[in-house]
Amino acid sequence: MKKYLKELNEAQKAPVLHKDGPLMVIAGAGSGKTRVLTYRIAYLMDQGVDAFNILALTFTNKAAREMKKRIADIVGSSEAKNLWMGTFHSVFAKLLRFDGNKLGYPSNFTIYDTQDSQRLIASIIKEMGLDKDIYKYKQVQNRISSYKNSLITVKAYMNNPELVEADAMAKRPRMGEIYQNYVDRCFKAGAMDFDDLLLRTNELLTRFPEVLAKYQDRFRYILVDEYQDTNHSQYLIVKALSDRYQNICVVGDDAQSIYSFRGANIDNILNFQRDYDQVGMYRLEQNYRSTKNIVNAANSIIAKNKNQLEKVVWTSNEDGPAIKLHRSITDAEEGRFVAGSIFENRMQHQLPNGNFAVLYRTNSQSRAIEDALRKRDIPYRIYGGLSFYQRKEIKDILSYLRLVINPKDEEALKRVINFPTRGIGQTTVDRLVVAANHYGRSIFEVMENLDKIDLKINSGTKRKLEDFVTMIKSFQIMNEGADAFTLSEHVAKKTGILLEFKKDGTPEGIAKMENIEELLNGIKDFVEGQKELADATGNISEFLEDVALATDLDKDTGDDDRVALMTIHLAKGLEFPYVYIVGMEEDLFPSAMSMNTRSELEEERRLFYVALTRAERQAYLTYAQNRYRWGKLVDAEPSRFIEEIDEKFLENLTPVENYRFKPLIDSDIFGEVDKSRFRQEKPRNGAPPPDSHRGNLRPNEKQLRKLRKLKPQLATPVGNKNAVDPNLAEGSLVNHTRFGRGKVLKIEGAGNDKKAEIQFDQGDVKKLLLRFAKLELI
Ligand code: ATP
Ligand code: MG
Repeated sequence: MKKYLKELNEAQKAPVLHKDGPLMVIAGAGSGKTRVLTYRIAYLMDQGVDAFNILALTFTNKAAREMKKRIADIVGSSEAKNLWMGTFHSVFAKLLRFDGNKLGYPSNFTIYDTQDSQRLIASIIKEMGLDKDIYKYKQVQNRISSYKNSLITVKAYMNNPELVEADAMAKRPRMGEIYQNYVDRCFKAGAMDFDDLLLRTNELLTRFPEVLAKYQDRFRYILVDEYQDTNHSQYLIVKALSDRYQNICVVGDDAQSIYSFRGANIDNILNFQRDYDQVGMYRLEQNYRSTKNIVNAANSIIAKNKNQLEKVVWTSNEDGPAIKLHRSITDAEEGRFVAGSIFENRMQHQLPNGNFAVLYRTNSQSRAIEDALRKRDIPYRIYGGLSFYQRKEIKDILSYLRLVINPKDEEALKRVINFPTRGIGQTTVDRLVVAANHYGRSIFEVMENLDKIDLKINSGTKRKLEDFVTMIKSFQIMNEGADAFTLSEHVAKKTGILLEFKKDGTPEGIAKMENIEELLNGIKDFVEGQKELADATGNISEFLEDVALATDLDKDTGDDDRVALMTIHLAKGLEFPYVYIVGMEEDLFPSAMSMNTRSELEEERRLFYVALTRAERQAYLTYAQNRYRWGKLVDAEPSRFIEEIDEKFLENLTPVENYRFKPLIDSDIFGEVDKSRFRQEKPRNGAPPPDSHRGNLRPNEKQLRKLRKLKPQLATPVGNKNAVDPNLAEGSLVNHTRFGRGKVLKIEGAGNDKKAEIQFDQGDVKKLLLRFAKLELI
């Protein structure tokens, strides 16, 4: 037997060795689905299948790169380079570069990112004279995106009375027109948005049977990871391409379907057996990733979902430590706990930062964690949020480069036509846009023909526009001979962007210059990398494509050691020895926006399942009683998901003081704080438990329910107006949830306006409205 097959268990070997024909592997987290996919590709190549005939679709491009590396190791040849492997978007962008011209797109089409799409939609709304408070550009963009993902074209939309009516009911009767304008403008700009990459591929494969035949013949073996999260558009592409040979292998886990808000359709898994003949069905049951405690706890959670395929997941790994639960008073304290715990674990077990991940439900939660990590000098990297390539200064340079490749690119042009400032005002740009719309041409084309069009602009402005055109054309000429780095460096200097920030001289300006330098380094690196590839040139268009489709994970080169911070959605498929799931609170996780129906709540629960199953050795769940949300301190209560985990898998680390509510509640629920009910953490290997890990009680289910009912009284767990207000006087010592200890200097006002001026120990004097202040007398 081949040596590498020994690295699989029997259940995994079966799908790897499966002969031709459709097959599906449905299995729980960490059971080796991705491994099966990887080894199956290696095995196919080993059996003589040409790498050119294999197409593999992954969740991130990083996953694809890692798979390729592993495959190259196994088959021991450079053949793996020829595999078509990547995300749906990157693979089909490549296909459209070859054949998109049949749909009227240039091969150098620009890929508009979400920001570009939103800017274009905002400007269309403005041009149409619509109320921007009713036609909110982000919402409109969202709608259009979901139409596209369901393959609803403008025409299909117009012919669908239900959709039209729904938008009319939402006071947006002109949605269809916006959609039409948006599609026209993208097309005219030679641009596709993310959704187009799938929509246009579908269009291409449907309208041009010879193109379909060509790719069906090329991709004789198609493999899809994370199949549970494919949307309708992706489903149709896979179905069409695999129709001839039916060599389609999909792996997935319905319990990890977490993208239905983006149109992912779980039916794709459920209907697979209906769609193909003689499907080989495989199940994997052994988890290799996590400890027994984690696997069993995760099983106990997902069992609460009604809608799921039955599955067994077990592991022969050790029991491992219990999942640790920590409650803090505020989100800032939660951050401090996480940072402290990472610090201790790192020291105690001598681990690199890369072994730790902090996962949260929404990006905005990262701030409190970041603050705490920075204070402890723990290096971290945030994935998601505003990516490097979306920073203004970076996007400005990239916009110039995009114009070099595709001067019709309207969004790029509008960004930089007057940056750095060159005296081309908004009125001029508006006139250019009107003329471009009128003649059905791009703005750049209008600018090239200023002599033939009367734009009513003065000769000075006209000359500035012509200079701009000349500059871009000079870059284009240079681009014919230069690699991406040489061109980019030239553009950064010649356009004056670098000078602009240098002159600025402020710390922000310097930071921006450094970012541009970082970008240039990145391009240099890219050019070097491309040199190794047979069919690459190192041209700027290759770099732009790479950037447009890079997910944040892709930038992780793994060469510096950092703690990973990301949303749970992004963490899918990944694994870390230590995982902190923070913000385990009602209305945050499960999210307040996803509790309207059972199916929404079940998706949140699947998300929790995904989060927990990322952990290899140790998982932490943390929550806070008070959290800043939308600039306000709000009360929070523990997530129902905590309650759903069987207590035997949990250990409470919450320090006693974090359970100290106002006396009424203390005595009511907990009686005198009863030490005998605290589970003390056992010292491991003779080492004392870390400082903050004072064993403590976790409220049991009954108590939690009671706590929930008592919410109004818990509203101000630390300070509460009734207790504080009457007794507060000049000279009183107080404790504030966020500012800490302080002394009251002055009381003024009365009733609802009563204020206290307080000198806090940390240095600040603050005036607080007592009606809202989270104060406690000490
Ligand atoms: P997820 O559902 O999270 O995507 P998965 O089912 O794709 O998980 P993998 O990522 O393929 O699981 O595997 C989980 C971990 O277990 C990986 O570290 C993998 O290398 C390891 N693993 C899988 N199968 C085996 C095996 N037979 N022997 C040793 N390790 C294995
Ligand atoms: Mg996987």
